[in-house]
Amino acid sequence: LQARGSTLRDTRGNVLGALIVLNDVTRLKTLENIRRDFVANVSHELKTPITSIKGFLETLREGAWEDRENAERFMDIMLKHTNRLDAIIDDLLSLSRIERDTERGEVLLDIGSVRDVLELVVKEAKEKAKDKDMTIDFRAPDELVARINPSLLEQALMNLVENSIKYSDSGKTISISADRGPKEIIIRVKDQGYGISQEHLSRIFERFYRVDKARDRKIGGTGLGLAIVKHIVHAHGGRVGVESSPGKGSTFSIFLPADSKDLHEMLPR
Ligand code: ADP
Repeated sequence: LQARGSTLRDTRGNVLGALIVLNDVTRLKTLENIRRDFVANVSHELKTPITSIKGFLETLREGAWEDRENAERFMDIMLKHTNRLDAIIDDLLSLSRIERDTERGEVLLDIGSVRDVLELVVKEAKEKAKDKDMTIDFRAPDELVARINPSLLEQALMNLVENSIKYSDSGKTISISADRGPKEIIIRVKDQGYGISQEHLSRIFERFYRVDKARDRKIGGTGLGLAIVKHIVHAHGGRVGVESSPGKGSTFSIFLPADSKDLHEMLPR
């Protein structure tokens, strides 16, 4: 609570009383804290690769460029860090665009086939899972319709799939499935990966939250993937869920509102 006081006087300056205004600033404070944490996190995430790039550049400048083998190694490292900066900035832009569009009610949703989006995601997932020799399973009803923004939904699902690939050992299986409930479409991405312990589960959708900072940075994420997923799903009027058990795997769920009967009648034939 914030209090502001002032003295009330008449025209001759005699004190008549006092006025105290009480404002509830709890919400504002919370927002301010979130903003401050966010700026600190972004700065830190950007600073780490830049410090490294700067160090290698200085070493090169001081003569290390003359040793070809070392110079190439340094440049590879600098390139890796530059790619990382690029990915963080792409994700930040993505996140702020979705947030802005959601606030202004400018996220375009149209009646469309969730099945089509899923098939695209499965195709991309198979391509990405090749390197780790992982299997992608897929199961969904033939007709699956909701009010969606197909490219945003695809982005959200790909973020989940990429995480499942990143946080699993080679050779494991990822199951992508969808079911139609009476009011909702439920999409699940299930893996047999490292899993997430209970204490972290409620926080992983926060920006830059990582279960294991060192491990997860090395694996190569920006720490923004799940925040993007959450915002995209909220823009669809839906919600996200996660279940996980360490050492066994995780299941991420997306619930999209859908009154299937009405929507099917509206689908262009
Ligand atoms: P990142 O870019 O680090 O992957 P995300 O926002 O996508 O960031 O995920 C946040 C954190 O949640 C990750 O750093 C990781 O610790 C954990 N995580 C996300 N998906 C999975 C998964 N499928 N299995 C295990 N851990 C996961």
